[in-house]
Amino acid sequence: MPETAKTPMHCPFCDIIRGAGEVSVCYEDAVSMAFMDIQPVNDGHVLVVPREHYARLEDLPRALGLHLYQVATQLIPVVQQVAGTRDMNIVVNSGSLAGQDVHHFHVHLIPRCPDDGFDVPLPFPGSAMPHRQRLDALAARIIATLRDPMRPTPGAPGAGTAVGAAPRPVGGAPAAVR
Ligand code: 5GP
Ligand code: ZN
Repeated sequence: MPETAKTPMHCPFCDIIRGAGEVSVCYEDAVSMAFMDIQPVNDGHVLVVPREHYARLEDLPRALGLHLYQVATQLIPVVQQVAGTRDMNIVVNSGSLAGQDVHHFHVHLIPRCPDDGFDVPLPFPGSAMPHRQRLDALAARIIATLRDPMRPTPGAPGAGTAVGAAPRPVGGAPAAVR
């Protein structure tokens, strides 16, 4: 059976949530939990998770996503106080290519310490700055797709090759450039 958002093959976080694994819980309510990461970047590294299994942010029911945001923002100052730093990375890895190892949605709250060696290198040193035309074109494609999600986007998976019309410009938005 292929893995889907709601049918995990095996999920360590679902195990934890149903009480099958050792865990250090720091917050819980009816629909969410937060616990200490088993291999923390630094002391105080917390994972905020929904009790129900969803793989990605966009899979979450909207109210649950907003709730997790509230839980994370409630915990952030507490983690800062306990870890003794205000500097943090708030990280969501979404999908294997993005480094998601546990496919149960979670928000990392990672307190940072001087010289801890952790890095999320942005801007990415391996990429150049594209021409403004290209950034404008991508922005226009996103705007057009927001307005009309059914419209195939050239270059997107399954889009075929026949569609090449420029996206509709919107008020104040950059003109489409291809
Ligand atoms: P991801 O790469 O999916 O964003 O991060 C998964 C995180 O979950 C890692 O930081 C990893 O240390 C943590 N993790 C993986 N398995 C367990 C576990 O069984 N218990 C806890 N507490 N954390 C886990
Ligand atoms: Zn799960």
